[in-house]
Amino acid sequence: MVAVKNINSGSNTIQEHRLLNLRSAVLNWFVVNCRVFPWRQATDPYHIFIAEILLRQTQATRVTKPYLELVARYPNVQSLSKANTAELRSWFKPLGLITRANYLVQAAQILVEQYGGKIPNDLKTLSILPGIGIYGARAILCLGFGESCPMVDEGSGRVLRRVLDMASKGPAYSDSRLLKIAESIVPKQSPKEFNLGLIDIAAACCHPREPSCVKCPLVDVCSHRQYEGEIIQQPVERQ
Ligand code: SF4
Repeated sequence: MVAVKNINSGSNTIQEHRLLNLRSAVLNWFVVNCRVFPWRQATDPYHIFIAEILLRQTQATRVTKPYLELVARYPNVQSLSKANTAELRSWFKPLGLITRANYLVQAAQILVEQYGGKIPNDLKTLSILPGIGIYGARAILCLGFGESCPMVDEGSGRVLRRVLDMASKGPAYSDSRLLKIAESIVPKQSPKEFNLGLIDIAAACCHPREPSCVKCPLVDVCSHRQYEGEIIQQPVERQ
């Protein structure tokens, strides 16, 4: 049995069995429904670092080609730190990724100057690198270092909030109550699969306006499931 305790979310206690059911439903669904992107097969933290800078507020399908070209052209932090920023900017311009050129080179230069060209295994250090932020830092820790660290973005946060009937309190990545619960659910053995599973369920089923609950693997544990086109009610702030 994996250790998940009852969690006091601030307004109610979420029962352990419910969290365990949620966890196993995500993992089982992910095995057959996961989306495939090249960085998801990567194990080198440097590759995850590149992917996270490219992916920030951008659809994954748009960054597949530049990701593959970047890791081939700049195989490590040192080579990226010496890249010609102007050249990268003109390469990225037609892709709408122009600001990422600056972030990539600046972050690589900091890594070379301050961390010996290695990707640090530290949330705070990663989160202040140009173009990374707190979500990207968590993604690098989980996908690059295998840590059981929650990757809560707007998509996976929406799924958790709906399933667990939690009120929306600002951006999901900085909602401390949501993060506390997510931390308790992420399994130590397969954190990557769980985090990516939640993200993929958000993309496949739990859309912001019209969630497709009939095909969602979490329908049996979700507080906000809807059937036959009923309008879903967003959680309201509890006093
Ligand atoms: S059952 Fe519906 S509202 Fe609940 S997580 Fe799935 S898609 Fe979202």
